[in-house]
Amino acid sequence: MGRRRPCGHTSGPRPTRQVIQTFPDKAEDKCGVVGIHTERDASSYLYASLRILQHRGQNSAGIAVSTEDESIKAVRGMGLAHEVFNSENLSSLSGRSGIGHVRYPTTGDDMLENVQPLVLSSGMGDIALAHNGDIVNSEALRERLENEGWAFFSTTDTELVIRMIVNELKDLADPVKAVRNALKRIEGGYAFTLMIGSRVYGIRDPLGIRPLCLGKVPGGYAVASESVVFDMLGGKLIRDVMPGEMVELTAGDYVSYPSPSGGERANCMFEYVYFARPDSIMDGKSVFDVRIEVGKMLAREHPAEADVVIPVPDSGRTHAIGFCEESGIPLSEGLMKNRFVERTFILPDQDAREASVRMKLNPIRSVVRGKRVVIIDDSIVRGTTMLKIVQMVREAGATEVHVRIGCPRIIAPCYYGIDMKTRNQFIATGRSEEDIAREITADSLGYISVDGLVRAIGSKQSELCLGCVTAEYPTKVPGERMRFQRSLESFQQASAGKRAVSSRIDS
Ligand code: 5GP
Ligand code: MG
Repeated sequence: MGRRRPCGHTSGPRPTRQVIQTFPDKAEDKCGVVGIHTERDASSYLYASLRILQHRGQNSAGIAVSTEDESIKAVRGMGLAHEVFNSENLSSLSGRSGIGHVRYPTTGDDMLENVQPLVLSSGMGDIALAHNGDIVNSEALRERLENEGWAFFSTTDTELVIRMIVNELKDLADPVKAVRNALKRIEGGYAFTLMIGSRVYGIRDPLGIRPLCLGKVPGGYAVASESVVFDMLGGKLIRDVMPGEMVELTAGDYVSYPSPSGGERANCMFEYVYFARPDSIMDGKSVFDVRIEVGKMLAREHPAEADVVIPVPDSGRTHAIGFCEESGIPLSEGLMKNRFVERTFILPDQDAREASVRMKLNPIRSVVRGKRVVIIDDSIVRGTTMLKIVQMVREAGATEVHVRIGCPRIIAPCYYGIDMKTRNQFIATGRSEEDIAREITADSLGYISVDGLVRAIGSKQSELCLGCVTAEYPTKVPGERMRFQRSLESFQQASAGKRAVSSRIDS
């Protein structure tokens, strides 16, 4: 299977450039971003925020702050936030405004060049950008700009975006207009925190695919990928940044620049299902409450005759509570997780992934022995994890193993920053639910339906990005179908029909 690229990277290796050949060949942009403007010391808040957002990225962490003279200083490194930062380097980052970034773990891209925030100095002063998401048309844009004579030092789409912003800034003294002009050419799902001198901005893509929210923190304001940041900094969530909105933070206030287009949205359903912390509030909904509803819906759509329900820790926990509430089957802790083992999902090859599942999870025999067991997890991607889990639960003495999954069958890649890239890696590609049940050796398997998921989230289907489960995307993606395309086609058919009728009348 293909390897993944880090946050803010899109283009693949190019044979003409030595440095670029060392870049991995797949994008993966599930990250966490934060931006803050406060009367107090920004770096300690940013550091705390990155630790709170650590679940969104464990590969690298970085903080950039604006110093007294408005120059930008950054500390970035590989690893977890607490491995990158210490009291010494944090005290070197003194300033009242700043941005931070954690990057999702990936394979093959362990290099410092990829670590964010990216900082550039320009005629307009220093500028820094942190990026969560994927720019779908970055390759085409880069090529166009290269043909115009631009030279890039990396393949990161973060570089592409920051350079496009700087290029607009040189003509337009107004940063908001400059950013808007630059972003007009960009398509995809993104949440940016941007610092121009000491001015801090939060920017969300026009459809709100990637999350970003606005909060009050002690002494100022902040934007962050998830609202838990504000809870834990002793502040509070104000609201989500709206799709396409740009927000400027000041210590005493914030200024909103609403989306010039507006109305439409496509919030990522996978944030609710798996990625966000359950204690976050995202686009007005509690992630925990959504997962409980998902669990209940699963119990209604796919009931099971069983003695015990066990979640796959940690991501299956909340769904399992909902399943138990609805079904009345008792919940137990049937799988113990070793928290100190790396996430299996990111390991480079299948053998390593399989070995690592065993290292990470161990069944509790007394819970499953002689029982009909329901295992609940948030999602199945390749199926590696679930096959191993079913096998180990059976070996531990379960008489029947039923699997229930809180995300519909993943059948198509994500182009907006979730780590699901090629169709051939999905176990659901070309297989029915029964085939997959057989493949993972389960007695039965039930995925929540797309409709059930939409209802559990409580949004309209037209307000969610469901690309990975429907293969219909909210933006143009080369070679893929756009959402609402069917209705457009039927509209065309309908109007073609009308034309036919009217021409008959005419003739
Ligand atoms: P599989 O073995 O089927 O490829 O992986 C499914 C498991 O990975 C599930 O337990 C799910 O919680 C987790 N998972 C799903 N998507 C992601 C992801 O993007 N990153 C990580 N780390 N885990 C994921
Ligand atoms: Mg999991």
